[in-house]
Amino acid sequence: MGTRKKVHAFVRVKPTDDFAHEMIKYGDDNKSIDIHIKKDLQKGFVNNKQTDWSFKLDGVLHNASQDLVYETVAKDVVAQALDGYNGTIMCYGQTGAGKTYTMTGTTENYKHRGILPRALQQVFRMIEERPTHAITVRVSYLEIYNESLFDLLSTLPCVGPSVTPMTIVENPQGVFIKGLSVHLTSQEEDAFSLLFEGETNRIIASHTMNKNSSRSHCIFTIYVEAHSRTLSDEKYITSKINLVDLAGSERLKKSGSEGRVLKEATYINKSLSFLEQAIIALGDQKRDHIPFRQCKLTHALKDSLGGNCNMVLLTNIYGEASQLEETLSSLRFASRMKLVTTEPAINEKYDAERMVKNLEKELALLKQELAIHDSLANRTLVNYDPMDEIQIAEINSQVRRYLEGTLDEIDIINLRQIQEVFNQFRVVLSQQEQEVELTLRRKYTLIDKNDFAAISAVQKAGLMDVDGHLVGEPDGQGFGLGVTPFSAKPGKKAKSKKMFKEQLSTSARKEGASSPVGGKDLDFSTSKTQLTPSSKEGDVKDMLMRDRETSSTEPLPLDSPKEELRPPRPSTPPPKPVAFEDFKNERGSEINRIFKENKSILNERRKRASETTQRINAIKREMDMTKEALNFQKSLREKQGEYENKGLMIIDEEEFLLILKLKDLKKQYRTEYQDLRDLKAEIQYCQHLVDQCRHRLLMEFDIWYNESFFIPEDIQVSLKPGSSIRPGMVPISRIVSLGEDDQDKFSQLQQTELPEGPDSISFYNAKVKTEQKHNYLKTMMGFQQAHRK
Ligand code: ADP
Ligand code: MG
Repeated sequence: MGTRKKVHAFVRVKPTDDFAHEMIKYGDDNKSIDIHIKKDLQKGFVNNKQTDWSFKLDGVLHNASQDLVYETVAKDVVAQALDGYNGTIMCYGQTGAGKTYTMTGTTENYKHRGILPRALQQVFRMIEERPTHAITVRVSYLEIYNESLFDLLSTLPCVGPSVTPMTIVENPQGVFIKGLSVHLTSQEEDAFSLLFEGETNRIIASHTMNKNSSRSHCIFTIYVEAHSRTLSDEKYITSKINLVDLAGSERLKKSGSEGRVLKEATYINKSLSFLEQAIIALGDQKRDHIPFRQCKLTHALKDSLGGNCNMVLLTNIYGEASQLEETLSSLRFASRMKLVTTEPAINEKYDAERMVKNLEKELALLKQELAIHDSLANRTLVNYDPMDEIQIAEINSQVRRYLEGTLDEIDIINLRQIQEVFNQFRVVLSQQEQEVELTLRRKYTLIDKNDFAAISAVQKAGLMDVDGHLVGEPDGQGFGLGVTPFSAKPGKKAKSKKMFKEQLSTSARKEGASSPVGGKDLDFSTSKTQLTPSSKEGDVKDMLMRDRETSSTEPLPLDSPKEELRPPRPSTPPPKPVAFEDFKNERGSEINRIFKENKSILNERRKRASETTQRINAIKREMDMTKEALNFQKSLREKQGEYENKGLMIIDEEEFLLILKLKDLKKQYRTEYQDLRDLKAEIQYCQHLVDQCRHRLLMEFDIWYNESFFIPEDIQVSLKPGSSIRPGMVPISRIVSLGEDDQDKFSQLQQTELPEGPDSISFYNAKVKTEQKHNYLKTMMGFQQAHRK
């Protein structure tokens, strides 16, 4: 950031023979100007009693040549523009005070040329002095009259007639005027031609369009773009020099304006006061909103006023006593502007295209560097390019094998590959999720809770209670089906699940049963085959109590595995945890025994695997130590000088022993590693068995539970003989369809004997499924009706 600077404010007094010596006095430093008004004159144009004013500015130019004015006011601003700082020089003051004379000067007399031609000259001279830079110069000339924009260079043959009116456009690069012609000038002369063209147009317009030129703002802009020929070619600087000849600042009442003139004066007064507001706001660091858009003048100059640019205000005043009121007002404006601070900053830009080219070069170089590194490190086959489909597919397959356990590890090759591995993990996982859902859907009827049509159909069929829960739904989330023995209101999903687990473990403790299949291993709530409802959360304890009472009056013979000896059915089913303990001793005893056995084998294998891992680690440590000792021996040998005998290296005994030891360790390591792999495979297999057993145990339990407590015995009897239908079961496919073997046969038959060939498979599959669904619903209705009776 640049250092803060004040707006530079100068005053230029128009030479006159009638200078008001008694009223206007200059300070010795040529920077201050004092105004004194005689008492009798004061009345009428100054509304207070004050008679003396003192203005401190950056310079008072009295009887100053055009040359001196340029040196004082403009030279530095123009010079800095070539270093990338925007600059704005404005002439302010009442009509006829010399603004145009100062800015443009007289076109007839070279000596009297103003700031515009001099600035152009300086720019071209400086370009000549800087052969290290490629600098381009462009110019535009804009006139703002009654809030309309005019291009003073539109008459040039290269500029086509403008179709749409000009507009002020803002973009990240700054403000520009859409439709305003900007002309590239490679030499001073061309630039002057443009300037004159604009001046001529300004004068012509004032005649033909009846425009009063003193009532328009004119902005001549020089655009500079400098690229260094020696340094970085992607960075370059741009700047703008705005040379502004403002409209006359005289106030309305004095000019006695009417009609068109009144309109002009209103616009001028407004735009000049907006200009002042904008500049003052810019100088106020606490302000974050600057009212630029209030008028065309400030909007067009948005990136050239205050802020990060060099700004100079030159106030033109008359020296005559008759103009003192306007003079005073102009000086007030100047002194207010002088207080405004700006923070000039270089406009540095980046050439995106060149930057890309340079980065490409850099990238190619780095790739070569990497290739050298790889070849030095014997990593010759590493490819750093983005992966193609085949490589990605290979990684996907690696990830799958890794997840299945058939691949032990995925070798790390480079960053890109690591990222792709993670990416593929995500892909495989999400696919698996979908597969699981699909499998579930194939096996169970899932009803979307938002599918109201389906829900109402199920309600109609009597499979769902009025609260929207499936009959028999245990915790408000399942989709099991069955019959409700009492009104069950499920609690919140997670809570009831937790309660259930607690219930399970409490009951296990109370019964004194030390089950290896604790709540940790078995989660009833995830069993999709449940038929029973859960109780209200608050009722769980009561339920346990009730069950205890029941069992005290009618004790359950725990050790009676035969169904015939089953005690009479209780009116209220026992809680599942209690029932589960019974089940394990009864019908589930065999499967529970297998489950426990498998678990203990699994635990034993896990223990062995962990021991083997520890041993492997110990061997690895030993190997490292031996290697280190060997290296030490080797370096010792190298230091002491080597012995060779007929081309064979002679080593001492110690080193020889170390080599032998290392060899032995490596062998051990390999053996143990092989063991570990075998163990891991076994563990995986055992885990699978345990999971299967657990699943089976739960499923059988649910069937048993439903058979024991819910499904009327007469239905059970009628369904049992010779049928594969097990009414207590929930898996829909098994209730409604053929047994699994029959199903297979049927599918095979379908494939081979379909009348329309294999293309019709899906059609027939859908038909069969629909029929199955209907059969299923019928069966369930039957159960319900039977139960209600
Ligand atoms: P403005 O643009 O402020 O309305 P002009 O620059 O057109 O005023 O000046 C009005 C007249 O005064 C012009 O004829 C101009 O040549 C003359 N004039 C203004 N300032 C000076 C000066 N410093 N020296 C000589 N003539 C001047
Ligand atoms: Mg003028």
